[in-house]
This record gives sequence, C-alpha cells and structure tokens, in this order.
Amino acid sequence: MKVSKLFTKTIRETPADEEAINAQFLMRGGFVFKNSAGVYSMLPLGLRVLQKIANIIREEMNLIGGQEMFMPTLVEKKYMEPTNRWDLEVGYFAKAKSEKEASFVLGWSHEEVLTSIATKYVNSYKDLPFSAYQIQNKFRHEARAKSGLLRGREFMMKDLYSFHASQEDLDDYYEKAREAYYKVFKRCGLDAIYTVAAGGVFTEKFTHEFQVAAEVGEDTIYVCSECKYAENKEITKLADGNSCPKCSGKVKETQSIEVGNIFDNGTRYSEALGLYFMDENGNKKPVVMGAYGIGLGRVMATVIEVSHDDRGIIWPASIAPFKVHLISLGKNTEAEKVYNELHESGVEVIYDDREDKSAGEKFADADLIGCPLRLVVSAKMSEDEIEIKKRSEKEVSVIKRSEFAKHLKF
Ligand SMILES: [Zn+2]
Repeated sequence: MKVSKLFTKTIRETPADEEAINAQFLMRGGFVFKNSAGVYSMLPLGLRVLQKIANIIREEMNLIGGQEMFMPTLVEKKYMEPTNRWDLEVGYFAKAKSEKEASFVLGWSHEEVLTSIATKYVNSYKDLPFSAYQIQNKFRHEARAKSGLLRGREFMMKDLYSFHASQEDLDDYYEKAREAYYKVFKRCGLDAIYTVAAGGVFTEKFTHEFQVAAEVGEDTIYVCSECKYAENKEITKLADGNSCPKCSGKVKETQSIEVGNIFDNGTRYSEALGLYFMDENGNKKPVVMGAYGIGLGRVMATVIEVSHDDRGIIWPASIAPFKVHLISLGKNTEAEKVYNELHESGVEVIYDDREDKSAGEKFADADLIGCPLRLVVSAKMSEDEIEIKKRSEKEVSVIKRSEFAKHLKF
C-alpha cells in the first residue's frame, strides 16, 4: 500500500469530542471515522486490523469445533417474544414506514435465532454436541456511547453458541472455550483475567468475563496477586487488600475493560423455543446451551489503551495493519525497489512515497500508525544501506540491505 494512494489522511489535531485515547489515535491515524456517537466506519487501515483479529478468533473457534455461519441482522418479533427479550431496552427497533408497530429488532444477540434453526436439525442425542458462531455487527442501545470503540451502539462481535445433551458436557466445553479465549487474547497482545461476574438480566447464574487491566476501564475487579482469581465488583464481597478466597494471596482492586464473556445458559432458551432431543433411553429432554462473545472493535481499542505512547499506537505484530512502515526520504530510486522486494516476498508493507512531506511529518505518521518495524531509505545513504527501527524501541540502526530480511521475522 502506498501512502500517496491511500484515500484517508492522518490528522495532527486531537479530536475535540473524544476523550478516549483509543478513539483519538484511531481517528487521527485514519483507522476509523466517527459517523455518530458510538457509530464508526472502519477505514482501510482499521479494517485490516479488525480482519486480523477476526482471523485469530476464527482459527481458535474452529479448533474447538466451532462452525462458522452468518445470521440475519433483522430479527423478527416471533423469535424474541418466547424468551421475553423482545422489548428490552438494549434493542434498536426497525420500523417499516407502513407499520405502526415494529416487528423486527436489529439483532443484539442471536440465541433465539440459532436455537430456532437448531430445532429443525436436532432430534436425537446423536445430533449433539455442536457449536456454531458468526462474526457480525451487533446493535445495542447505549444511553451514553463514550469511551470510543470500547462502548459502541453498533459494533462487530463474534458470538458462538454451544448445544449439549447434558450439563456435564457443557461444563467440559465451557473449559475448552475458556482456554481458547485465553489464546485469542494472548495472540492479540492482551493479558486477560478470567473473572467471575453477575448474570444480569440474561441468566440467573454467575457468568465469566475476560477483563484486561486498564485505567480507563469501566469495570472494577478484585484480582488475586498470586493465583489471579478475580471477581467483578458487582458481585463481590472482597475489598482491596483482602485475602484471596482460593489461596493466601492478597486481592487488589483494579480498573479493567471487559473484552469477552461466556455464559452458561442452561435450558432457558431451548425450553422457551422448543429445542428438545431424545436421549439414549428414549426420554425427551431440553438441550443445554452456552454462549460465548468477543467484541472485535473492543479488542482493537483495548490493545491501544494498553499499548501506546504519546506519539501513537504500538501494535503487536499479530494485528498490526502492516508489518513494515517504509519511508522514502529525498529523491531516490532505491525505496521503490525495497518496496517491490518486500511486496513480492509477501511482507505486508505500507510505503510512504509522498514527495511533498517532510521527514518529520513522515516519522510522526509512522509513530501514529504504529506498525512494528520502520524502514527508512534516504538519498543520503549509500545504495546498500537501510535504516531500521522498532516502534516499541528508541534505538535506530543503519544496516546492510542484504541483511534486513532477518529482522522481518515476527
Ligand atoms: Zn489467589
């Protein structure tokens, strides 16, 4: 990708209406465009990051047997009424002009839709277990859409649902999903804390959240310094400095961002929507279900909150929009050659080929956009030299061009 061809541009000024660091850098870097409060367009750079996060999630969900599918955004009333979730405040209702009453809601969770689909295919215990997921935009009515992409009205989410013949089987899968979630977050550069949380209006039981410690987080959690056992403030009796209920460690109060959650939904949805199966003895039983969510934009925003400096984003290589940010300084023919070499060898590279920008502006853009490795080719260097700098480090070195391939292992 050549910067001269990119239709978006970086912005020097911090947007006045965004307090959150993630939104400030994403907007200034040309990753996202704010259309409305809590509603953002993913621009070419932002979409590259989001797709990398999506692919990491896909790989890990496929490894635990998840089958990818895609369900409608418009969810008809008949699906949500049996579970008493039709007129919940979280929904945005889609109203046709000719109708006085809304008959569709913009989907904010898809338990009902997939459970209804499953009734056509599940008859016997032999049809279980299975799990299916989608990566799709979700819509939630947020009274105060703030914190940039941490709390949006429309956002991309991976939602996986699992279907089981028994509670024990769900419990086993729940553990597998938990391990898969740790891997997803680790691969995205996040250190997630598995946290016991309240069930809220969706389920009576406890649920589990994956929280990332960050000052801007809207959640407060209590984390053991020894075993990492954690509880959300909404359910806990713990206080800062208490002893951990699982070991002798000390509990610390921490602000955090919720990046994922998993729910044991039991038979609530299957009973409401008629999803039953015949067990080995010919007895009719409701299917036991779990639900597992990850917000992709929120993962993206959280990475920025925990990995930036005052100049811009510091992406982990796994989700960076490009691995290399190549800069050409002064008139030279060598930078184009390096770009072509990188491009042909499959290295993802953004190439600042603009001739009307100063070195300072180009360096500032590279820091703002935050790709892991910066390469500079300048008219002042000899033909076989190239300057190399990691975004996460201060050190700049000039090396032989024939040797830089070994720096490209991520
Ligand atoms: Zn502990």
